[in-house]
Amino acid sequence: MTQTAKMVEPGPRQELQCLCGHPVFDGIVFRVRVLRLRPDNVTEGKCRCKRWNPLPLTYTP
Ligand SMILES: [Zn+2]
Repeated sequence: MTQTAKMVEPGPRQELQCLCGHPVFDGIVFRVRVLRLRPDNVTEGKCRCKRWNPLPLTYTP
């Protein structure tokens, strides 16, 4: 029997929910309408309720 090497997975991503209860990030996919980058390098996603939620994304130009 051969043992297959295990993939090293990144740590579990935290799910994010908007204040309206809509999951803007389910751990894998961002469920937002629009993405924007603030001047202080924080990425935000626009929920369907039109609220902006900061997302765990780092943008490197
Ligand atoms: Zn919302």
